[in-house]
Amino acid sequence: MIHWNGLMFFFLTAFAVSFLVRGSLSFLNIRHLRLHGSEIPEVFRGEIDEETLVKISRYTRDTSRFGALEGLFDDLLTLAVLLGGLLPWLLARLPDWEGHFILTGLLFFGILTLASGLIGIPFDLYRTFVIERRHGFGTITLRLWVMDLLKGFVLSAVLLGILLGAFLSLLFYAPRSWWFWTWLVFAAFQGLMVLLYPVLIAPLFNKYEPIRDEGLREAVVALMAKAGLRTEGVYQMDAGKRSRHTNAYFTGFGKTKRIVLFDTLIASHTTEEIVAILAHEIGHWQGRHVLKMLLFMAAASLALLWLASHLISWPLLYTTFGFAGPVPFIGLLLGAAVFGPLFILFTPLFSSLQRRFEWQADAAVGRLTGRTAPLAEALKRIARDNLANLHPHHLYAWFYYSHPPLAERIARLKGREGKKGS
Ligand SMILES: [Zn+2]
Repeated sequence: MIHWNGLMFFFLTAFAVSFLVRGSLSFLNIRHLRLHGSEIPEVFRGEIDEETLVKISRYTRDTSRFGALEGLFDDLLTLAVLLGGLLPWLLARLPDWEGHFILTGLLFFGILTLASGLIGIPFDLYRTFVIERRHGFGTITLRLWVMDLLKGFVLSAVLLGILLGAFLSLLFYAPRSWWFWTWLVFAAFQGLMVLLYPVLIAPLFNKYEPIRDEGLREAVVALMAKAGLRTEGVYQMDAGKRSRHTNAYFTGFGKTKRIVLFDTLIASHTTEEIVAILAHEIGHWQGRHVLKMLLFMAAASLALLWLASHLISWPLLYTTFGFAGPVPFIGLLLGAAVFGPLFILFTPLFSSLQRRFEWQADAAVGRLTGRTAPLAEALKRIARDNLANLHPHHLYAWFYYSHPPLAERIARLKGREGKKGS
């Protein structure tokens, strides 16, 4: 039986706050696009036509509406599961948890994870084969999509199994200090993943090879030498087998550090532009941004696990949602459900940290190549090629954007170039 007490009221309030914040931001963003979507931003004058603006508006509208719909569905499902008493019902059908703590914990989380994965499939299918195709991006075949799904399934079963097994064992054998040991295991796992992802996991899904184009390869070697970095750290990836979107990113840690350029990006940019993009990624490399992000996450998860260790022995947390009394491993889930919605308020903090790194990486371009205009040109092309929204509402961008809005970035790069010229 669900109890309508103070904690339930708190949960529903937090849930409603999170729902309203996300809903209003989406609404503001879509309305802003409707009102201003046909205006050409200053820095794009003469570079972008009305036809492209219409395409951008349609793509942004389609993806944001579908994202909002999926979010709404997830919210309703969460409420139905928590208020419908599905969790105590599931636990009652599993082996007695006091006698089989680890096994029952694995089954409980395994079933929930599997169910949520299966529910996500139709959304992913629609996004991949309807929306992305409609706007000319989707190139993935159903066969490759199924292969990705199966590989992802096996991979998450193995990785989640290991992590959950470790967490449940620590909770069982070290009931007082489990939170610290779990943090240590999770942090080590996260570090290991960042280290191993580029060499062990990413190659399961894509082919990574040295830059093929000879002229570009020479330019890359020269730039890397100038920055004092290992040249073998630049790869091209066969992204075009899934979609026409273009991108580049920096990943890995220590010896596995690397810069990855999508083959689609290489195909649509000039050598000068790619060198500028590469210089931006080198900026992330030199700024140790992956390490800083890891440390930030490790600090945040230590605080969260410490809080959780106090929560999971609180009987009210369980009785509110229909359990007879504390079931430690479920406490983590219930704690996340009750207090998690409030963490949306930390989203802007995380986003602004990421945007800070992007500004720093952009600043590295001028330092390394002596020019910022090619990066500005590259960003314009990226905007066109990916139908990027040129008119995000400033609150929406402040809240969610991991990269500064394109028009803002380009304007700042132009400012730098202008200062150099004068
Ligand atoms: Zn970046």
